[in-house]
Amino acid sequence: MLPKTADVVIIGGGVVGCSIAYQLAKQGVQCTVLERSRFGGGASGAAAGVISPLWHVDPAVEPMWRLGMRSLELFPPLAAELSAAGIDPEFRQTGVLKLAFTEDQVDDLRRNLVWQSELGLDVAWLDPAQVAQREPEVRPAVLGGVFSPREGYVRGQRLVDSLVHAAGRLGAQFHQGTEVLGLRRRGRRVTGVDTPAGGIDAGQVVLAAGPWSGIPARWLPEAQDPDSPAIPVRPVKGERILLRKPGFLPRSPVRNFEGYVVPRLDGTVLVAATREEGRFDELVTAGGVSQLIAAATLSFPSLADAEFISGRAGVRPATPDGMPVLGPMPEIEGFSIAAGHDAVGVMLSPGTAELMAQYLLDGNAAPLEPFSLSRF
Ligand SMILES: Cc1cc2nc3c(=O)[nH]c(=O)nc-3n(C[C@H](O)[C@H](O)[C@H](O)COP(=O)(O)OP(=O)(O)OC[C@H]3O[C@@H](n4cnc5c(N)ncnc54)[C@H](O)[C@@H]3O)c2cc1C
Repeated sequence: MLPKTADVVIIGGGVVGCSIAYQLAKQGVQCTVLERSRFGGGASGAAAGVISPLWHVDPAVEPMWRLGMRSLELFPPLAAELSAAGIDPEFRQTGVLKLAFTEDQVDDLRRNLVWQSELGLDVAWLDPAQVAQREPEVRPAVLGGVFSPREGYVRGQRLVDSLVHAAGRLGAQFHQGTEVLGLRRRGRRVTGVDTPAGGIDAGQVVLAAGPWSGIPARWLPEAQDPDSPAIPVRPVKGERILLRKPGFLPRSPVRNFEGYVVPRLDGTVLVAATREEGRFDELVTAGGVSQLIAAATLSFPSLADAEFISGRAGVRPATPDGMPVLGPMPEIEGFSIAAGHDAVGVMLSPGTAELMAQYLLDGNAAPLEPFSLSRF
């Protein structure tokens, strides 16, 4: 049964929505998450879960950089809290290894190493012998690599499950199979949501619907312009596969310039990810799978005879400038957005939730200004 009221209703039970719910529940806010399929059923459950701001966040884009580094800092205590509450999100700070197989790639890694070393994060260049010492099955043609010890990985679906569990224990409500079909309004204020199972009146509504966050713009007719969606989030499909090779598991995520090989605690190896603009479908394709196998065997030739377990696709939520949209919807009261994290939503989820929960508690949007919708 849906509640009739909530302090905050969150639309979307991916990693972003569930992380915000957990932070709010910790502060005693009564919040309800509505998910139309199942928690983590979108990109969040499909993600590779690599937590690597050094490789995925441009240090020149300061707000993103701060969000990435803050999230990296938040992950270890968050994972410990979630484990203590009952479900281990399988975060491991194993470090991340990035490999170069051409001279251009060596130059690229070494260029990045200059600023990364200045951060005091113990990032180090490994020559081929040192790479082989860390990961004996790496292709011998490797020219070197960079190891960054503070980064790691988490299992996307387990992170979502652990957030739902921990927030639920603190009183948050979670309803899956419940699609939000529209917003309740009083003048310029959003006052709740409508679903097929009934409506909920809410003090605040947060849109965390991932790549589908552009669609509810139709719920706000005044924010409409047919040529420019009010919330410019677009879909970017990604595929990943799971392999198993008895006796083989990398010690950490290993990246080359084509893709990632990520260990999982159950002994399987996740290989990610393809990237296709403008696609909402979640089909696993022959082309996608062969691209991923090529990426995996470039680093680890012995994976060619690994058992193929499964493939999965998810849809990333991308924005025109690569930064998420966080904060209030301009001109509308009681309605905010947390969407558009593209390929780094799992990694940025703790920092995002911290910022959003703080805004929902004190109403001060200033810290979210760099991510505001009005920048477009
Ligand atoms: C193959 C792949 C690999 C990836 N690897 C990584 C990685 O290594 N590291 C990383 O940080 N990120 C990675 N990502 C990106 C990451 O998965 C996303 O950035 C992140 O999951 C986005 O989370 P979200 O909660 O915004 O969206 P989603 O997970 O898509 O959640 C949004 C939810 O909203 C629900 N919804 C939509 N409309 C409604 C409605 N009207 N009512 C109710 N519910 C609704 C959807 O059903 C969905 O479950 C990867 C993505 C893919 C596809």
